[in-house]
Amino acid sequence: MSARILIVDDLEANRRLLEAKLTGEYYDVLMAQRGEEAVQTAKRERPDLILLDVMMPGGIDGYEACRRIKAQPETGHIPVIILTTLDDRDNKLRGLKAGAEEFLTKPIDDVQLMARVKNLLTLKVVIDELRAREANGKRLGVIEEDLHPDPLDQHRVFSGNVLLIDDNQNQIKRIEAALGVEHRVTLLNGGENVGAPDLAIVSVTAKSFDGFRVIARMRSGEPTRHLPILAIVDSDDRQRALRALELGAHDIIVRPLDEEEVLARARTLMRRKRYMDALRARLDQSLELAITDQLTGLYNRRFLHGQLGPLVQRAQCGGDTVSVMTIDIDHFKHLNDSFGHDVGDAVLREFAVRLASNVRPSDFACRMGGEEFVVIMPRTGGDIACLAAERLRRQICASPFSAPGVQHPIDVTVSIGVACLAGPDDAVDAVLKRADEALYEAKRAGRNRVVGKAAPEAA
Ligand code: GH3
Ligand code: MG
Ligand code: MG
Repeated sequence: MSARILIVDDLEANRRLLEAKLTGEYYDVLMAQRGEEAVQTAKRERPDLILLDVMMPGGIDGYEACRRIKAQPETGHIPVIILTTLDDRDNKLRGLKAGAEEFLTKPIDDVQLMARVKNLLTLKVVIDELRAREANGKRLGVIEEDLHPDPLDQHRVFSGNVLLIDDNQNQIKRIEAALGVEHRVTLLNGGENVGAPDLAIVSVTAKSFDGFRVIARMRSGEPTRHLPILAIVDSDDRQRALRALELGAHDIIVRPLDEEEVLARARTLMRRKRYMDALRARLDQSLELAITDQLTGLYNRRFLHGQLGPLVQRAQCGGDTVSVMTIDIDHFKHLNDSFGHDVGDAVLREFAVRLASNVRPSDFACRMGGEEFVVIMPRTGGDIACLAAERLRRQICASPFSAPGVQHPIDVTVSIGVACLAGPDDAVDAVLKRADEALYEAKRAGRNRVVGKAAPEAA
């Protein structure tokens, strides 16, 4: 996987060293020497990953640069690895609290660096894909507002369900103490249902089970595929740490556990999970929005055209024929004027329910707008379509509608025009037009009736 990585370090020698390592793995490299420059370059170039030195003379240090990168909407999603010679606890915590995904100490261990880089870039690909679709959704108008609350907001704490898989009682207590205030921690002990976890903490030092197997299973199983995993390893066990990362753990924490570090890492993982969940949910929602009518939940006009085209084409190539009915509620304006627009909406909704439950599962019921509906009936000839329309018409006028705030029942009738695809030269627009003409005939003839319109050559 190729990617662009921004290296930020004030020392030329350090930059060159990292550059050589990364270009050796076929990554593209950008460089910056100062904190402010890093923030600006990140904004302008949108790299896929940032390696950030802490101590830089003059201006802001690496922690502050990280905070600013994470606070900019254009760069908040870019993973940051902080690199430093200061290997003490306070510095590590400062880095994690500034929003960095990872903290590595110099001299940098090549294998560990590459494992982290690869790991974070894999996630970044998914985030980029989701962000691109989000941007498309916004452009098309099917996604309107920004994410709220913004999961990238570093000041906000997102609490969630933590699934703990460990057999060390002391360690379990410490994790529960560290995370219990913000999150709900559940210890997994054999098949118990834990709801939907937001983070799994898996000990690969456990004696009673194989932590690697747990990680591998979680990565491949559908419900846990996107679940972030924090693996617990021994401090001197580099091999196992790399193995855990390779198998798909998103982050590593070494024993003995530092409670604040557990909390800081959990926060970062949880925030990223929330961010990706929110983007995914909006994607589903935008797809749904793109094909459904908001008032009634029926398909919309866009969907109708998307379906009808291929059905007509198939029929023209010798496949089954297709019919459409166009339905318009009679004197709907009068109903609106008498009872108000809200009652009109309630009638439209109830009509949609009756319509949807009166057509076959293979039919498509669509709202074209206002009080006009179209049903596409695949594999249906004109006679059968007229029978179906007549059944629907009777169903509507036979039992009055009710609406909130209206004491008495409301009588509703519909007029329906039916047309069937005729011959290989017939077209989508022509069929819809014939159904419309039939509908107007039904209106002219007194409403509350069905008119079927044969194709001209068959007439
Ligand atoms: P006809 O029997 O000839 O069809 O008469 P009509 O009154 O049903 O037809 P017309 O097209 O004159 O009026 C349709 C009305 O539907 C006018 C419009 O205000 C109303 N309408 C359109 N969309 C909606 C909606 O989403 N909700 C409500 N409540 N009314 C709507
Ligand atoms: Mg009408
Ligand atoms: Mg109308």
